[in-house]
Amino acid sequence: MQDTGPPTFFDEGFGRAYALVEAVEAMSGQKHGRYSIFLDGVNADWLDQATNVLDIGNNQIRLLRLVTTRKRILALSGEEDLPKTGDWIEMIIEPQGRGSPLWSFAPDDDYRKASRHAVTGLRVLSQLDRPSVGAAVSPSVNAGPRLRETFDLAKLIGASSPKSVRKRLNTTHKVNSCAVYDVGQANYVALHTRTTGDRHSAILVDIGEPLAFHRATAHRRKPPPPPENALVILTHWDWDHVAAGRERANNAFANLWWIAPTQKIGPNLWARVAKPQHDRRKLILLKPRTSDIVSKCIRLRFGRGVDRNNSGICVLASVEDKRLALPGDARIGHDGVSLPQNLDAIAISHHGAEEVGIAPRPSTAQISTAVISVGRANKYGHPSLQTIRLYRQNGWRVSRTDQRRGRRTNYVRLL
Ligand SMILES: [Zn+2]
Repeated sequence: MQDTGPPTFFDEGFGRAYALVEAVEAMSGQKHGRYSIFLDGVNADWLDQATNVLDIGNNQIRLLRLVTTRKRILALSGEEDLPKTGDWIEMIIEPQGRGSPLWSFAPDDDYRKASRHAVTGLRVLSQLDRPSVGAAVSPSVNAGPRLRETFDLAKLIGASSPKSVRKRLNTTHKVNSCAVYDVGQANYVALHTRTTGDRHSAILVDIGEPLAFHRATAHRRKPPPPPENALVILTHWDWDHVAAGRERANNAFANLWWIAPTQKIGPNLWARVAKPQHDRRKLILLKPRTSDIVSKCIRLRFGRGVDRNNSGICVLASVEDKRLALPGDARIGHDGVSLPQNLDAIAISHHGAEEVGIAPRPSTAQISTAVISVGRANKYGHPSLQTIRLYRQNGWRVSRTDQRRGRRTNYVRLL
């Protein structure tokens, strides 16, 4: 069992953290270059001395949100550019009042409440060993490689054989409809399959929900609880695609099998999402591969990129005589995932962001539906009008999950 132990610097407001950069977003409507950096963090002093890094207690980890300007970050880090998604950084944290504001969310209250601190030092941890250059940094020169090595699902858990995944996929019945749920700034798609009798089971592609700082985008109604024989497929390990499966009192997904890609993750994602599911022996991981994994009606295709969005799973499904693609957040094209030509329906990747790659052409002159899963009034300015235009020009009828308020349903039927 994890011990909760004495309060850490996250409670006291002084100390040092390592954090994986989950997302760097320019805040829309902000003329003076304000950025929101979403981080998955761990107490650095604890981690430097930990003998068993993988048994992290809740008191050592926090989800963090740093809000600051580009100029301020560059001044703090001494770098020429902002940290990027996938970088590990080291931060010096002090009580509020000085530095850039940092909000920290603790797992003990399910990441609901934020405490405010200030960041007064920041360093991007190199992929390679190199001496530290900042003034206010620790001698932890090996932290970057060590963190990257440690928080890697391929090493933490390891991959299963494609054969076992195919077997698991074949336990589901034929898919005959698809719904993209309005879960705010997140992703949640249900493939319904009719079994004997008239009970519906489902394959869920992503089980996202917005975390506290995107709570305002959430729909008041959640998707219905999944049936006990549903199967979860995670396209990738971003919080907005997995958050509803985190460890908490009513985790409706705990007893389901999950299929997910081996990717690099952060300490909160490990301790609160991946590890509990692995401990229940219900997590099947797949290494990225060049050939598809083909089952009766589902085909899993891997992205060819290196970052999380582009190295995950794209779900291709046959629904009756229609063909459907659920690429998660992957770019469409050679640097992300390549799609078949004759699609009838698609969930447009990455919440309709600007960089979604090539818009595929739909199969026929019949109505072909493209849906964007996006949170109402989200801070990122998703979806991009250019992306919508691109899909429309190619012949898609584009709808959005966030334009459903006041309607009877909280989902868009994709097929
Ligand atoms: Zn996403």
